[in-house]
Amino acid sequence: MKTETTIQGLTASLSPAKAARKIIGFVPTMGNLHEGHLNLVREARKLCDVVVVSIFVNPIQFGPNEDFDNYPRTLERDQQLLADVGCDIVFAPTVEQMYGNQPRLTNISVNNITDDLCGAQRPGHFDGVAVVVTKLFNMVQPNFAFFGQKDYQQLAVIRQFVRDLNIPLEVIGVPITRAADGLALSSRNGYLSPEHREIAPVIYQSLQTAAQQLTSGTALSDALNTIRATLTDAGFVVDYVEARSPELQKVDSFNQDVVLFVAAKIGKTRLIDNLQVKFTAS
Ligand code: AMP
Repeated sequence: MKTETTIQGLTASLSPAKAARKIIGFVPTMGNLHEGHLNLVREARKLCDVVVVSIFVNPIQFGPNEDFDNYPRTLERDQQLLADVGCDIVFAPTVEQMYGNQPRLTNISVNNITDDLCGAQRPGHFDGVAVVVTKLFNMVQPNFAFFGQKDYQQLAVIRQFVRDLNIPLEVIGVPITRAADGLALSSRNGYLSPEHREIAPVIYQSLQTAAQQLTSGTALSDALNTIRATLTDAGFVVDYVEARSPELQKVDSFNQDVVLFVAAKIGKTRLIDNLQVKFTAS
């Protein structure tokens, strides 16, 4: 496995694979890797000849009061984990390498589906994601790019601009990897105190309870209220609890497949999760 820190080095490392028309798979990450990331790499390994993983903590997707400076950076450990799952090339550029010294005057803004859920609390976040992912796509030029359903809205945003801008690759969504107690794996779980880590699985439990309620006839608004109450009782500060169609359109009843979304803070740590609930007409 090679690690490249410059665009030139990346291009040079990729050129034999491109010349041989190999299938290139790409997994963008911010590092501090866990099994969720590694499952994206395993998925890429199955479908592709050459697997590239980027590790880049992208400053322009963090708000002024967010955790950019403190975001965990663990490159050596990440490299070891990636070597073990068969990654071919790690691309770990500096901020300067990615953004250069000239001002950036171009933005990529996806309308409508970025207005609410995480977009409401994190203005500019998805623009920052869209810009960095597009830059990385142009650098790697993969055939397939792999993203987690854990960041469901992000996946929808990426699918949208890939389609809108005719970016020539296929986006693959990979299911959420969870800890044994159901907590969705996240680099931010490392911020949790032992007490908060014990409470954190309540998010997934409340989503599962709501899914059961919906399939046994409870009204959507009641199921969402139960999630809110459960989280508040457990000590979370709820940011949002919402239901959307799989394409992120608003829904007011459970008469089609829905995705339940939660964002909630426990202490200072903001956690997100989601669960798709299938509708079967009886
Ligand atoms: P991040 O490093 O947090 O930017 O995440 C990089 C990629 O890994 C994104 O596509 C995430 O959706 C995905 N990812 C993070 N955590 C998980 C998880 N628990 N299950 C599946 N994918 C994940």
